[in-house]
Amino acid sequence: MKADKSALSILGGPPAFAEPLHVGRPNVGDRSRLLQRIEAMLDRRWLSNQGPLVSEFEERIAAYVGAKHCIAMCNATVALEIAIRALGLTGEVIVPAFTFIATAHALQWQEITPVFCDIDPNTHTLDPEWVRRMITPRTSGIIGVHVWGRACPIDALTEIADENGLSLLFDAAHAFGASYRGRMIGGFGAAEVFSFHATKFINCGEGGAVVTNDDCLAEKMRLMRNFGFSGLDQVTYIGTNGKMPELSAAMGLTTFESRDEFVATNERNYRAYAAELASIPGLSLITYDPAERCNFQYALVEVDAAAAGLSRDELADVLWAENVRARRYFYPGCHRMEPYASLFPHASLVLRATEAVAGRVLLLPTGTAVGLDEIREICQILRLATGSAGDVRRALESRRQVPVERRKVA
Ligand SMILES: *Cc1c(COP(=O)(O)O)cnc(C)c1O
Repeated sequence: MKADKSALSILGGPPAFAEPLHVGRPNVGDRSRLLQRIEAMLDRRWLSNQGPLVSEFEERIAAYVGAKHCIAMCNATVALEIAIRALGLTGEVIVPAFTFIATAHALQWQEITPVFCDIDPNTHTLDPEWVRRMITPRTSGIIGVHVWGRACPIDALTEIADENGLSLLFDAAHAFGASYRGRMIGGFGAAEVFSFHATKFINCGEGGAVVTNDDCLAEKMRLMRNFGFSGLDQVTYIGTNGKMPELSAAMGLTTFESRDEFVATNERNYRAYAAELASIPGLSLITYDPAERCNFQYALVEVDAAAAGLSRDELADVLWAENVRARRYFYPGCHRMEPYASLFPHASLVLRATEAVAGRVLLLPTGTAVGLDEIREICQILRLATGSAGDVRRALESRRQVPVERRKVA
């Protein structure tokens, strides 16, 4: 553990970690179970097109979240695109700008306009009052995002959608294993979309799924996922290729079986961060409602630069110099990325809370690849840096004088 400020890498000490520590290092699960599944798959020579592993994965996900249907897909972005299309969304759809870019792209890709709506600065999810204000005659739907696995205000959004005849879809990429008012995420709105990307709580390497209780919608999405094929030589619908391969389902089933262990590790890490960060002024760890279930997959700190003495970006630089790859999700916000920055040049004037939150949050490494000693060291770095904010700032400023291409990247 670093003893004093001179040990900080930014002030001349060696980096705390020889290997980079990542925010989203994949959870793996039981390796031998995975290899058994892959052996059986190879014996069957059934690698795609709704094999037994994908079917089992779908059944287990649907049962776990309590939804009638689970339609597994190659990733959550395609799953969002298909759900949006199957719901018949057109014109404008209200989405937060504080989300991963895929939420907006899934709309724009099919020439539907994402209308960026502000968030509640405390919960980081859609602000229902702002949603109401963004509705126009062209609005066809709302996509809520359960950011960090904390449910967005589902009841309020459902009411707004019902009153205005809008479809309500949820991007639940972060929220597998989470609940809202005691019910599992996955059963709300017209449909919810999970991501099983490598960095997510349960992963397939690449993978996603739509869950829904609507039989017609499920049938339509199953057709769309498989080129519209309804029989061997029969296509009844426009479709794409959104199928999940068997290999991904093998990984998905295996990580799904280890979910309790992953949550336990994530929660242990979360509590360690909470205990350590409590004594550092200006840094506050995200909170999770103890009455709800959650996956604790995100160790997010909010930086109050005035109280901490250093800004979020300065602390990120300090950590990167130590080989801690802390991330500024979802900086700078979808509205400041293309094509949206050009399409909506004034969006930042409206999105006040989005701008503020995107400027102060920092994700710290957690998950099954991160241990308690590493967390203590990361927090010690933050403690020493904020305790010597003046020296750290001067060091960062002099480092910035060096052209980027000659700076040694940790
Ligand atoms: C990861 C993520 C996605 C995209 O998921 P993929 O499976 O990588 O396509 C969409 N929305 C949010 C909020 C995400 O975090």
